[in-house]
Amino acid sequence: QCSLVCPTGALVEKDDTEKVLDALQDPKKHVIVQVAPSVRVSLGDAFGMEPGAIVTGQMVTALHLLGFDKVFDTNFGADLTIMEEGTEFLDRLQHGGVLPMMTSCCPGWVYYVEKHYSDCLPHLSSTKSPMSIFGAVAKTYYPKVAGIDVKDIVTVSVMPCTAKKFEAARPELGRDGRPDVDIVLTTRELIKLIKYVGLSFGQLPETEFDSPLGTASGAGAIFGTTGGVMEAALRTVCDKLTGKTLERLDFQEARGFKGIKECTLELGGRTLHIAIAHTLKNAEILMEQVRKGISPYDFIEVMACPGGCIGGGGQPIGTTNAVKKKRMQALYEIDRSLPVRKSHENPELQVLYRDFLGEPGEGKAHELLHTGYRAVPKAYPF
Ligand code: SF4
Repeated sequence: QCSLVCPTGALVEKDDTEKVLDALQDPKKHVIVQVAPSVRVSLGDAFGMEPGAIVTGQMVTALHLLGFDKVFDTNFGADLTIMEEGTEFLDRLQHGGVLPMMTSCCPGWVYYVEKHYSDCLPHLSSTKSPMSIFGAVAKTYYPKVAGIDVKDIVTVSVMPCTAKKFEAARPELGRDGRPDVDIVLTTRELIKLIKYVGLSFGQLPETEFDSPLGTASGAGAIFGTTGGVMEAALRTVCDKLTGKTLERLDFQEARGFKGIKECTLELGGRTLHIAIAHTLKNAEILMEQVRKGISPYDFIEVMACPGGCIGGGGQPIGTTNAVKKKRMQALYEIDRSLPVRKSHENPELQVLYRDFLGEPGEGKAHELLHTGYRAVPKAYPF
């Protein structure tokens, strides 16, 4: 049954649990799954846990018990997004590129720009979202290191988001006629699968993500909340712009539920003006400035859902503002608990660039990890 559930109105809900069960039961297929940052702080709600409970370890165990061959972390993809987006931003800043640059990891937001502000498309970062960047690596690098034919690999992602199904189906996000992300499940669909096989989720032991696409920094973890993408980007951009390893990790100006947050940073002899918006209503205020050429900002983050992905359209029903606050706090707790908190210091990511991608923003990295956008007629139904 279909119902309109995405706060962005991006599409109607579609249940793909049967497709995943079919793939898991096919002995010829190697089925891998990636899980978005905010899912691990919302999944517990459905199993009697306190809102904001961090259930990363139980979630990984549950996915293995469901039959996935490898369980990887979208946070690794988020670190990759920061490497590419940070490099792109510095290039635009230093070589007179189009500013403000706007983040592009939220498909609800990207589609909104394509439909309502197509004259502003050059402002969108060309870097793929964490889910799609992970998918590109999972269908190119991973088959090489795992020694598996790419035709036998099925990539599943678990997202807080109904619009991610639409993103995965975009023809430019694949190769040789195959999508990089084959199937997208929402948090609610994962809950349905866990209940379907009868797992006692709360009693499951904790296990860790698999390697080589399962190690992430704290910067990758905070992508799930409004302001998280910008804070993660700033941790890398500040180091690269100053040429120093800065001690500062927390950007409090980026945190909280205010509709539009702003900050100004003095870095490497430059002044950076930053803005962060969540909900498209707030984004519209910033976009009118961009359209008129009077935006005072250099870099803008937008997430379509209220609070960002912690309040996404695929999350458990009944997500109140109090619940979102707990999830936000939990993501910052995960960030604080990790030994590496800057994307460019992620050791697995450094190996991937050294052995496969080359330099960020160039050659193979650019070919695999960047994309393009197109204007969508306003008459389209949603
Ligand atoms: Fe999806 Fe997150 Fe964007 Fe909402 S904010 S549309 S959940 S990516």
